[in-house]
Amino acid sequence: MKRVALIAGARPNFMKVAPIHRALAQRGTLEPVLIHTGQHRDEAMSDVFFDELEIPPPKIHLRGGGEGGHGAQTGRLMIDLEPALEELAPALVVVVGDVNSTLAAALVASKLHLPLAHVEAGLRSSDRSMPEEINRILTDQLSDLLFTTCEQAAENLRREGIDATKIHFVGNVMIDTLRRVQARARSRPLPGPLAQKPPDLRFALATLHRPTNVDDPRSLDALLDMLAELSARLPVLVPLHPRTARGLSAERRASLPPALHLIEPLGYLDFLTALDRAALVLTDSGGVQEEAAVLGTPCLTLRDNTERPVTVALGGNRVVGRAPARILAAAHTALDTPPPPPATIPLWDGRAAPRIAALIEGYLGS
Ligand code: UDP
Repeated sequence: MKRVALIAGARPNFMKVAPIHRALAQRGTLEPVLIHTGQHRDEAMSDVFFDELEIPPPKIHLRGGGEGGHGAQTGRLMIDLEPALEELAPALVVVVGDVNSTLAAALVASKLHLPLAHVEAGLRSSDRSMPEEINRILTDQLSDLLFTTCEQAAENLRREGIDATKIHFVGNVMIDTLRRVQARARSRPLPGPLAQKPPDLRFALATLHRPTNVDDPRSLDALLDMLAELSARLPVLVPLHPRTARGLSAERRASLPPALHLIEPLGYLDFLTALDRAALVLTDSGGVQEEAAVLGTPCLTLRDNTERPVTVALGGNRVVGRAPARILAAAHTALDTPPPPPATIPLWDGRAAPRIAALIEGYLGS
């Protein structure tokens, strides 16, 4: 059996590796081996997803990049990944998404001359101040197999000089995971403080964790004030990313109105339940834009750009920037308008991972 190393490290990776691991194992000719880099290692940002998404425990669990800057974190991840991959000697390394673990593993695999596959290749915000954009560009340059979620991605890659024969349009593995658990999520009560409210409650959901929004206290403060104002119209549920929680003092939290519910990060099922039922989601997440489009939940993206324009073109996503007054106006407009229908996006059909597994088998067989 040919060994395929599958790298995951941070929250948005787990939803992506779950279906890929399953599909690789189902081929019968490939042995998927999961390496957890430990970039996120706590219960709420990591362990919960292994249980809910039935991901087998990682064969190798590294200690993560620790605190510090991006350079220090990426460097430490590489230091740990190199001996792990050397010992494992896989026929192929698969990385997903755009976090520091993705780039660290891509660099290590290339230096060890191991073939590399990137799942979710070719997404571009054209904003090089985003750490994720650098991770995407460099990982794609190093990859031998580039699996894309939308047609535009291939164009982005060709513009950067990537050989078209390496690019495979396969669809979106995150939506494989969503489809698998969607029915289960729909039958659950609303999570956290909304559990006791009537089931037809109209509420908004918000997630914030991009450095541009949460690292500068003034920017985070202004966004919280905006959500506080919105909570005068309807309850707002905010599962706080640890990065965002770190920037919030106890006094600030205590000063917020009771209808603005700041809670711990949710598990995947609870989050999906909330996203499915929310009247509106306000977010700077990449994955949430995609999930909202597929569920038909109106989405405001609190950024100046998106690397996922297909969610705007075919779904109910609107990129509204980071100015609070503009966001608030867009929120009221969205709440006054009927929600969009669930988006139909080419190949976001729940079968992206089996396509990837078949292509990997073909690549390794040849
Ligand atoms: N998510 C979750 N719990 C939360 C918030 C988000 O399970 O409290 C899920 C969400 O459904 C999506 C993924 O986490 O599948 C997105 O991760 P994140 O926003 O951290 O990263 P990004 O997509 O921006 O890289």
